Amino acid sequence: MVRVSERINFLRDEIRRHNKLYYAQDQPEISDSEYDALYAELKKLEKENSSLITSDSPTRRVGGEAMPSFKSIRHKTPMLSLENTYSGDDIKTWIERNRKLVSGGGVSFVVEPKIDGIGISLTYEKGVLILGATRGDGVTGDDVTSNIKTIKSIPLVLSGNFPEYLEVRGEVYMSRSSFSALNDERTRAGEALFANPRNAAAGTMKLLDPAKAAERNLDCFIYQAGVIAPKTSLKTHWEMLEYFKTLGLRVNSNIRKFDSISGMLKFFEEFANKREALDYEVDGLVIKINEIELYDVLGSTLKAPRWACAYKFPAVQASSVLQSVDMQVGRTGVVTPVANLKPVHLGGVVIKRATLHNFDEIARLGLKIHDSVWVERRGEVIPKVTGVIVSKRTGQEEEIVEPEICPACGSVLYKDDENVRIVCTNSFCPAQLERGVAHFASRKAMDIEGLGEKAVQALLVNSMIKDVSDIYALTEKELLLLPLFKEKKAAKLLEGIDKSRNRPLSKFLFAMGIPFSGEKVCRLVSRHFGSLEKIMSADESAFEEIEGLGDVRAKAIARYFSLPGTKTILAKMKLRRVAPESDSAPVSDKLAGKIFVFTGKSPMPREKAQELVMAMGGKTSGSVSEKTDFVVAGDKSGAKYKTALKLGVNVIDFEEFLKMTKEN
Ligand SMILES: [Zn+2]
Repeated sequence: MVRVSERINFLRDEIRRHNKLYYAQDQPEISDSEYDALYAELKKLEKENSSLITSDSPTRRVGGEAMPSFKSIRHKTPMLSLENTYSGDDIKTWIERNRKLVSGGGVSFVVEPKIDGIGISLTYEKGVLILGATRGDGVTGDDVTSNIKTIKSIPLVLSGNFPEYLEVRGEVYMSRSSFSALNDERTRAGEALFANPRNAAAGTMKLLDPAKAAERNLDCFIYQAGVIAPKTSLKTHWEMLEYFKTLGLRVNSNIRKFDSISGMLKFFEEFANKREALDYEVDGLVIKINEIELYDVLGSTLKAPRWACAYKFPAVQASSVLQSVDMQVGRTGVVTPVANLKPVHLGGVVIKRATLHNFDEIARLGLKIHDSVWVERRGEVIPKVTGVIVSKRTGQEEEIVEPEICPACGSVLYKDDENVRIVCTNSFCPAQLERGVAHFASRKAMDIEGLGEKAVQALLVNSMIKDVSDIYALTEKELLLLPLFKEKKAAKLLEGIDKSRNRPLSKFLFAMGIPFSGEKVCRLVSRHFGSLEKIMSADESAFEEIEGLGDVRAKAIARYFSLPGTKTILAKMKLRRVAPESDSAPVSDKLAGKIFVFTGKSPMPREKAQELVMAMGGKTSGSVSEKTDFVVAGDKSGAKYKTALKLGVNVIDFEEFLKMTKEN
């Protein structure tokens, strides 16, 4: 018995401590599900050992605690919490139980998104907002009227046919976009980040300066009537919500009404998929019985009403510990830091690794090895580390050091100017080769039929290719040495390889996996230069001239083409008759040799106009220089226009430009 009582005391102390961290300081150290587990264990032990129950146990309380800095408000009727359910079966049980209690009468249901914010109560007298209070412990809350009044979606005065006295309940929340803006701001100011929008909303409600609260951009949805005087004749909750809207109260637009369980469960599924696209966090759905007259029949338990329950979605956030950081080399050589975490259960899976994106992100988070961290996993995406739990630091944390050499090949890494990405530019880096070859052969790149993942692996394992140019030296005899290839298959692959020799230049560039260069960038480069030879002899300034490329990318691409490894591969390619064709061969030479610069508004997409110039043998550039022949100006302003005047370059408008392309 001693051990059970010790455990119970420990759990009570822990829960109280976490309550304080959560409610008073908005700096939780554990996730909701971890908290729920502690709570559930305590509840179970108390149930099994009823002699050990005390009236001050956290399980006897309704919810959090009201904070001392605001005036305490006693709610006219308690703001109860909701019973939680976690599965369709739980809900079926809940519904059956209620049906029995109301002796099988007609029951319908209203389903509402459970916004992850903080519960509030609003009181209107003669249509004027006189009180805004937090839920607090459910019995007493804080008077936060001054902060409530800063929330634009809460009307200060009701419209329509409002009652003499109205108390409504709702959820104050912070949108995801406001939340990330706030945390960015705090990063810049060197302040601790909020773990999630709910903590940020709670923290904002506790600000003593309403002007500061107003900057935080909170929002609110109303979902329940508290006290209405005189009593209304409305029969259903659904009608009540409709009535709220006529008063100017904001009601969530994703609320639905159901007569059957099956329709309801289908909606659950639909909504679970949809919720990540919303600009606010939804951690579940609330199911309420629609018929208000049944509320009195059903009544409530000590903590929760029987006529409503919450269906909780699997958790998306958990706390863990960063044990170490791996450096992963991607196909294009970009080195990505990956977190190795203390394994943690989250949304039904065990999370051990999470992406850290890049070193900028590590700096933004202020992350160190051995830090306690927040981990999030939404939908099917890769888990990510979203924050550091600074209060858990012991002083033993270690800085995460940026690597200087490639973990896969040992060559010196290259850091781009913005310091965000670290790249291995060794064209023979083994970490990049397998994925690099597969990418090279893929449809959007060289489109080599027959060179799938398995074939690539077989060729690499048998050292038949050491870089992508070796693909073009493969022979039938060699291929037939591999069990994977029979005559027909080998012939098909060789045919596919041969066909790819004259792929469009933009596809070839994309295939090469140039750092920071997706399809669009490759098209820009290809169009600008027109041939591989010209690209190979271009210097950095030539790349900087390409409109829409940006200096950072221009530098990285120029560097890529200057590397000995790249030069070797391209020379081998040429030797092996790989000759990419210019993307769009000029259809005429009307603008041959002429260099155009576009600026200002354009009646056609800029890219289209550039294509037109190139189709007629001309060139386009992003900046005006002595070499420019024409500046096509959408309006007579801007730096390019002024430079053109200064240099005496011809300035024409779009009409003239179009005329030029049509003249014979
Ligand atoms: Zn490498």
